[in-house]
Amino acid sequence: MKFTTLGETNEIGASCHYLLMDHTGIILDAGADPEKEGMDSMPDFQLIADHPDWPVDHVIVSHAHHDHLGALPLVTKTFPHARVHMSAATRQLADILLPASARLQRRKLKEGSTTVDPLFDEDEVEASSYVYEAHPLEDEFDLSGLNAEVDVTGEFFDAGHILGSLGVMLRWEEDGNARSLFYTSDTGRRNQTIIPGAVYPQEDVDILLLESTLGADPTAESVTRRSEEKRLGESLATVLKRGGTVLMPVFSLGRGQEMLALIDRYKRRGIIDEETPVYTAGMMRAIAEVYDKTRFNTPRLNEEFQVFGVQQRRLPRSNDALKEALKRPGIFCVGSGMVFERTISNKLAQQMIGNPKNAIFLVGFAREDSPGDRLLTAHAQGKGTDVILSQAKGPQPLWCDVDRFRFSGHSNRRELLSLVEELNPKKIVLVHGEKKAKEWMADNIRFFFPDIEIHVPAEGETLTL
Ligand SMILES: [Zn+2]
Ligand SMILES: [Zn+2]
Repeated sequence: MKFTTLGETNEIGASCHYLLMDHTGIILDAGADPEKEGMDSMPDFQLIADHPDWPVDHVIVSHAHHDHLGALPLVTKTFPHARVHMSAATRQLADILLPASARLQRRKLKEGSTTVDPLFDEDEVEASSYVYEAHPLEDEFDLSGLNAEVDVTGEFFDAGHILGSLGVMLRWEEDGNARSLFYTSDTGRRNQTIIPGAVYPQEDVDILLLESTLGADPTAESVTRRSEEKRLGESLATVLKRGGTVLMPVFSLGRGQEMLALIDRYKRRGIIDEETPVYTAGMMRAIAEVYDKTRFNTPRLNEEFQVFGVQQRRLPRSNDALKEALKRPGIFCVGSGMVFERTISNKLAQQMIGNPKNAIFLVGFAREDSPGDRLLTAHAQGKGTDVILSQAKGPQPLWCDVDRFRFSGHSNRRELLSLVEELNPKKIVLVHGEKKAKEWMADNIRFFFPDIEIHVPAEGETLTL
């Protein structure tokens, strides 16, 4: 079989791989690079076009995060005959997220914050949504291509990362031998607050396509979820008791809903006052509805729990009402998670950081030099240090508390190594991580499992596996 990565970079990049087994061509994930714009953010489909004998029969989308889903309308436009496979929950999320992405691209161009033409519009997104096929977990389905001489099948496993996230098992025959490939995509072994931990195939696999997000993060393996939950609860209580407001910047899909579930638990256990107002906004609310609607037919730790069962207020629209809300103790659980410019969390942070009673609690990944990361750095340098949240506003002194809590939807690197041991692959392809992360994973796999053949493909590289 041939494997070509179309979006892999030295950063997290865009998740998108092309597989060719016999005459069947499969695109695994259709991600866009969140750091880039326009065609630069898209996987390199020219690599497929360069090979007239590389068909695209199927597309599999592992979950609805932008770096796995964002290029899908372009994929269906480029390969109109391909069938698209995902979970039922991902399909519902895609119906919200992709039209929103089309609107955002148009708005940015209109506002002048970009000169890049939108890659697709809402009509194209809608047209492409008719070819999405949903499959249940652990149920084999056919993935043979139009000109296939051997059968290829797929099977989905719960990836424990966000609502609807999947690991994908592919099985086919090559020269009379049974072969298999398991793609972890983004995978989380431990239970979160809403979403239970991942389930993996109970069989040895031939090829493991393994994510490496936390490969360079030693802290992720030493902190436990329980200790971080306790620390966050106590920290929230301290700030609220002194009359401060807490900003919790979150990713609207996944972390946002998980944090609301946690705040609910703190309230029910009396760790924070039950009357504390919790504010949410925008996309996070639309996504919460999908979490609630699918709670009986997707994996849950407690199917009775509803995100909208947690008391929450819509973020005030007018500046005056927002100013009033910020004067009282409350929790603002809003996007973006890295406090990017022109987002709600950035706007709130600008208004909050001058007051020492307040706090900003980062609960997800903040990449280097994102405004979220700048807040952490400035805080470490001491109270009153200047920080730039918005280029237009310039430096502002940081007087409020800033802290980081580790709640990841990804397995830590030790858990990834134990997965390698369980699945006992002959070959591993490392994807989806910064350079350092892949290096640590590769070194440790070589050390602990010297018989496994390891590949760390460069952007656009084709491997014969
Ligand atoms: Zn993800
Ligand atoms: Zn990802």
